[in-house]
This record gives sequence, structure tokens and C-alpha cells, in this order.
Amino acid sequence: MQKLLEEVKEVASMLWEKGWAESNASNFSIRLDDNTWVPKKAEPISFSIDLQGIAGKTFLVSSSGSQMRKIKQNPVPYLCLVRIDEEGRSALFRPLLQGSGARPTSELPTHLMAHDALIRSQPGQRAVLHAHATEAITASYCEEFCQQERVGPILWALHTEAYLAFPGGVGLVDFVLPGSLELGERTAELLHEHQLVFWRYHGCLATGASLEEAFDKMDVFNKMTKVYLAARSLDGPSFIPDDDVRRIVEHFERFFAPAGA
Ligand SMILES: [Zn+2]
Repeated sequence: MQKLLEEVKEVASMLWEKGWAESNASNFSIRLDDNTWVPKKAEPISFSIDLQGIAGKTFLVSSSGSQMRKIKQNPVPYLCLVRIDEEGRSALFRPLLQGSGARPTSELPTHLMAHDALIRSQPGQRAVLHAHATEAITASYCEEFCQQERVGPILWALHTEAYLAFPGGVGLVDFVLPGSLELGERTAELLHEHQLVFWRYHGCLATGASLEEAFDKMDVFNKMTKVYLAARSLDGPSFIPDDDVRRIVEHFERFFAPAGA
């Protein structure tokens, strides 16, 4: 757990420095090894979602109202453990620090639905991170960028390594109320094939084998949106031509192919 807490501090520090975690913005969850739970003084959480994929699993979750600028100094008072029951129908939680009063983030349903999708389709992805990545939010105002079928090709035509980072593009959720079940449901659907979901007018949710990896994915996507927005301000920018994008795709498809294939 100590190593994990060090990683949480580091990622919280980067989120704060990036300006993606103003006030109490940003939250995260990490699936732990199954034997982590200590069920002392746990409180129940009721919800109406089916989480059979993560039944019996335990998560380290940031707390409601917590601030990354404080988590980066000492994360322990701002974290909770959440345990899903064996049927995937309810959960228990307790603060990591007894007496801290920490309760799970208000985005907990979205996090749990995301983990339920990930464990079914991408089980190596254990961490889920949400933040208000600035340039990604700004890209919300570009209609062309905010179309599911367009966003991937736009990214690949921006930078020669964008395809390496997002070979399947990214998932896109148009306007949805924050904290709603709909946000969780639509995000979870997209996580069967993506590792980053762009929430229009809100920010991003990224996944990773570790919290740091999830942060890196969001950092790359935000960098690409920053470049895109800057390029749009130029007079007639020339993006990577389609033929060269195809060469990039072929190049990295060979890179992704298993050895001997
Ligand atoms: Zn948010």
C-alpha cells in the first residue's frame, strides 16, 4: 500500500501542477488485490447498478470533495476503501484513515461501472482517473472534433505518434450530466474498446495498468488537443496527408503485431 500511496501523491501533484484539478475537481479509483479488505466499521452503499464483473473486488477511491492540492501532500485522510459484495449488487466502504470522515467520490457509480467494463474487456487496466484537462475541455467547442467517427482520424493526422497512443481513437461522450448514471453507462460502453473517454464540456476519463499510466494517457490526449487548437488558429493549416497517415497506421500495426505474426 505504501508504494501505491506514493504513486497517488505523485499523480495528485502532477494533476495540480497541470491545472486539471481546480478546487475539488478530479477523482480516481484503483482495483486492489483481492485480499486487501479489512471489514472493520464499514458503511453500506446502495446503488441500482449491476456490477457482477467486479463482485468481491476492492478499490482504493478518492473521497468526495477531496482536493488534489492536499492529496499530493498527504493522501491518507482523503481516500476510502470500497468493497463490492459477492453478488455485485451493493458495496461497503470505510475511510482509509478511521475517523477522517472520508466518503467515496460522487462519481463512484461511474468509476465502478468503468471497472466492471474493464475487468470484462481489458482486465489489465486497474486504474481509472478523471480530471478537467484544460485543452481537452476547450476542444469541446469544436464540432468537427466532437464526432465519434472523426476524432480518431483527426488525432492521427496531427502527430506522427498519435496512432501509437490511440490506435482505436478515443471514446466520446457528448453532453451528459456530471455524476449521473447515464455518464457511467455511456463511459462503460466505450471502455470495452477504448482507454480514454473524452467527456464533452467536462474533461476526460482515462484508464491504465497504474494510476500513473492513466495520467500519461490523459496527458498525451490533452497535448494533442492543445496542438489541434493551436493549428486551427493558423491560416489554412496542413495536417498529415491521408496517404502518410495510412503509412503510419501500417507502420504501427506491424509494431503491435505479436512476434512471429
Ligand atoms: Zn469532473
